[in-house]
Formats: sequence, C-alpha cells, structure tokens
Amino acid sequence: MGHTFEGVPISGGIAFGPIRLVRWKVPVVPHEVVPEECAEDEVERFLAARDWAKGRLEELRDSTRDRLGPMEARIFDPQLLMLEDADVVEPTLRYIRENRLSAPRAFEWRMLELQAQWLRTSNAMVLDRLNDLEDLLVRVLHRLLELPESSDLIGDEEPGVVVSHNLTPSLTVQLDPTQTLGVATDLGTRTSHWAILARSLEIPAVGGLVDLSSRVESGQQAILDGRQGRVVVEPDASERHSYEERRVLIQEWEDELAEVVRLDSVTIDGQPVALRANIDLPGEAVRGRNRGAEGIGLFRTEFLVVGRNAMPGEEEQYEAYRDVVEVFPNSAVFIRTFDLGGDKFPMFLHMPPEENPFLGWRAIRVCLDELELFRPQLRAILRATAHGDVRILLPLVNDVEEIVRVRELLGEEEEGLRRDGIPFSSGYKLGCLIETPAAALDAAELARHCDFFSIGTNDLVQYTLAVDRTNTRLAPLYNPFHPAVVRQLHQVSRVSRAAGIEVSVCGEMAGDPLGAFLLLGLDITALSVAWPYLPEIKKVIRSFRIEDARKAARLALAAPTSAEVIQCLSDGIGSSVELSSVSGRWSLSRM
Ligand code: PEP
Ligand code: MG
Repeated sequence: MGHTFEGVPISGGIAFGPIRLVRWKVPVVPHEVVPEECAEDEVERFLAARDWAKGRLEELRDSTRDRLGPMEARIFDPQLLMLEDADVVEPTLRYIRENRLSAPRAFEWRMLELQAQWLRTSNAMVLDRLNDLEDLLVRVLHRLLELPESSDLIGDEEPGVVVSHNLTPSLTVQLDPTQTLGVATDLGTRTSHWAILARSLEIPAVGGLVDLSSRVESGQQAILDGRQGRVVVEPDASERHSYEERRVLIQEWEDELAEVVRLDSVTIDGQPVALRANIDLPGEAVRGRNRGAEGIGLFRTEFLVVGRNAMPGEEEQYEAYRDVVEVFPNSAVFIRTFDLGGDKFPMFLHMPPEENPFLGWRAIRVCLDELELFRPQLRAILRATAHGDVRILLPLVNDVEEIVRVRELLGEEEEGLRRDGIPFSSGYKLGCLIETPAAALDAAELARHCDFFSIGTNDLVQYTLAVDRTNTRLAPLYNPFHPAVVRQLHQVSRVSRAAGIEVSVCGEMAGDPLGAFLLLGLDITALSVAWPYLPEIKKVIRSFRIEDARKAARLALAAPTSAEVIQCLSDGIGSSVELSSVSGRWSLSRM
C-alpha cells in the first residue's frame, strides 16, 4: 500500500506521475555592516532592486492578465503596493543609513518585522498576506544577493507532480500546465492567492498536507486527487493498476463528456434539471458556458476582494458582474453578496481576532455592519440587472430581519440610481442561502421574504454536525449524507414548493453523483456545481429516472445512519455510480 496523505482540496482533477520536489526558501542573508561612506551606494542598490522587482511583477501581472484575466492579474497588486509602501521602504532606508546594514540585510530585517507584526493577529487572511510578503522577500533578496531568479527554481524539464512546502503567486503562474500534472503543498488554503491561480490554470492541486514535502523525494510516484484533497505516494501494484484502469476509463469518460455538453440536462424519464455553474472569478463564466452551464448558480464575489489592500470600487464591481451576466444573457445569474469572514478576509477590513471565525463576524453580518462595503456592491449588482436575469443571493442568513434590511438598502440604492439616471431593471430577484439549521428550520418564515432559496450544503453540513469544514482531521465526520442533513434538505424542499419559490443547491453535494441523485429525489431540480464538474453531473443526471431517485430518497429519509443513507442511494442509482466512479471520487476513497 502506498502512503496516503490527506489535505485540503484546492483544484479538481487527478494526476499521476513522478514527484518534482521544489524546495524554495528565503535565502540566508549574511550579516553585513557597511562603512559609512558606502551607505548611499547601498541605498541606491536597494532602490534599484526594488525598481527591478516592480518591473518584473508588472510583467507578470500583464502576462497573467493576457493569459488568465484581469482578476487573476490583480493578485500581484498587494506585492506591488508593498514595494511602494512607506512602511516598507522608509525603515529599510533608515536601517541602511543609521544602522549601516547592507541593503539585503536591511530589507530582510524590515520584512521580518512586518511578518512578526502580522503573525500576532490570528486572522486567517493574514496567512495569505504573509505568503505575498514571502514571495516579495525572496524576489528582492535573490536580486540583491545575485542569486538566480526565484521563478527559475521551477524547472519543468519533464512532466511531474510538483511538491513544495508552500507556493507563491509568482511561482504558480510560471508553472507550465502541460508539464505540471498536479501541485501538492504542506501549507495553503482554498483562498491562498496561488490556489486561486492554480484553479484558473486548471492544474489539480491539494494543500494543507502538513509535512508531505519533508517526507517524499523527487522521482517517487504519486497519485494526486485534487477533488478529494488526497495524495497517495508510491502506490502499490494494485493501486497503480486500479489507477491505470481508471486512467483509461477517465479518457473514455472525458471523450463522452465532451459530447454530453451539447445534450439536455434531463433524467431518462424526462425530468429537466437546471444545471448551473459555481464560479469564483468572472473569467470562469465562459468556461462554465463551454461546459454546458445553464447560467451561474453561485458567483462567489468575495474573490474580488480577498487579498486586496483597498476596497474595489463600484465601477470595477459593476464591470465584473456585467461581464458574467453578458455571458448568459438569457439565463439566471446568482450573484452572492460578499461572503467575507470565516477564512476569507480582505486586508482593508480591520478584523478583530476571533476565537471561532466560522461562528463569528461572517457573511451578511459583516455586510450589514459595513455599509461602506455593502452599498457599492448592491449598487453595482443593481446596475448589472440591466443586462440580464440577475438574482441576488445573501449568505448565512438566519433571520427575516436580515432580508428585510437588505430590501430596504436595495430600495435606497434603486432610488439613488433613478436619481442619477443610471439604468437597472427592477425585475431582479432576491433570495438567501440556507446554510444553518436555523435557516432550514425557519425556512417557512424566510420564504415569505425571499424569491428563491439556494441551499449551501458546505456550510449547512458544517453547522449541523458542528464539524469545521476546513479541519482535515475531522474530515471523516464531515458527512453530507448524515440523516440530520438529509431531513433538513427535505424540509427546505417541501417549504419552497409550498411557498412556490425555486430552491436550488449550490454546495459541493450537488456536484457529487450520489448527492445529485438524492437532491433530485427530494425534488430539488436546480443544481449548481463547480464548473469543471458540469458535464460529469449532467451525464449522471441523464443516466437515471427521477422516479428511482424519489424512491431512494424516501428510503434515505427513513434511514437511521449515514452509512444506510448512502446504501439506499447506491442501491437506487445502481450502475450509474459505477460509471461516475471513474471521476475518482468514489474509487479513490476505496483504494
Ligand atoms: C456553501 O456553504 O455550501 C456554499 C456554497 O458557500 P461557500 O462554500 O462559499 O461557503
Ligand atoms: Mg457557504
């Protein structure tokens, strides 16, 4: 048996190949004091290295814009801002002039001071910011110490699975997707800047693997499953064999999926399913459309702001929302208002450290407290309504008052737009995510104030089971098929039908074959899934009867344990699971 490492899923897809260990680290800077008469030369040397780094980062930003899109390009803005920041530059110059430190030592000293300051706040976003700081530190030090450019560390002579303690945005954009089969890191979260770029580059990736990089060698074979967040090192003959078999199946499956894109999303017995895409960045809308999405079921707008030093303006947001809506002029686009907090915080929101961020100041709570952040977003979304069928989706709603307050704010912003003569359509819809047991149990009340519901099973599972969704140690307990979850899904579905409003599911469960089967069986016929999984889920939908799904769901509702829920569903879906198992989610977990 190979050695299995569990981590955090970052970017979907399966890779198999030799490990390419990338060990990059901040170079050791010799302690050097320069004679007084050389201090100004050192100042010049530092400023020249800074200007050079700025030029390189601008080049990277521009090439990233051309290759991946404007939002991805902005990932380099925090580093560019740091290079201009008086808080970085002034102390560095002072350490050269007053303490007569060499340029690299003075810069390193200042950056380490900032790192120590940031580390004192226990905010998850700070980790991402530290990653930017490290990226910049390595770049400038390599220049000052005349070492090879840090990006040269990523050799890509032969295809492989890159394993590293951590990655940085600049290293990631320089990975060649044809040579980089996958990426696995000890650190890294879904919101790390490099993680966002890995998804845009469509490179399968797993983070949070703790000590993988110190336990493997270059050349060892590895299977990486980016959807499950798992790496198997040196798989044994039977694991390899089953992977090889699956590789053939995957190829056949992918060929078939390409066909599926053009077909309707409908069960064998004629039940149509609205199949939409989840996206993090506007550029992904086109990818969703190319994979057959009927609109966007979840646009996670907070990815426009995480890692930013300043709040994005109304105009910039309007353009981002409009761009997505224009990709789907005749279909619904669900724009979720900023779901900040938990593990996603922009630098401009000064967050007090919290003991339990997922139970803390999050999502709608932040927006309703920070109207300077929220109002421009509402105005930008309203302006996007002029271009299509926009649905405004509110995250983590627990109380009717939260929706009522948002309606008031929308009314005020509509008034403002009218006054300014800016077009919008008043036909947009407003609804909320059902992500807590409170919202699920109180769905009938919430339904009176909503035009639709979308169930966020990722959070609903976390809050129902009191299992932190980011804690890999608890992963076996994080079970979307727990009877308590199934009953809430049923309850929300019934309430929505009675209230005559649409209910969809946009959590990962909808992108899972058994999950989709259960949801359809519970009469939830609108699903939104991460855009890469659209064809696969459509194929699953086309392979069963809604009547069988309903029957299995009835049995699942009466099942006393998660295992029995899964059993009812597996029996009900029959051979379709076999088919979908080539996607890797089922079979890898059984390896
Ligand atoms: C969810 O909670 O299911 C959801 C879709 O939102 P997110 O994953 O962004 O929290
Ligand atoms: Mg959520």
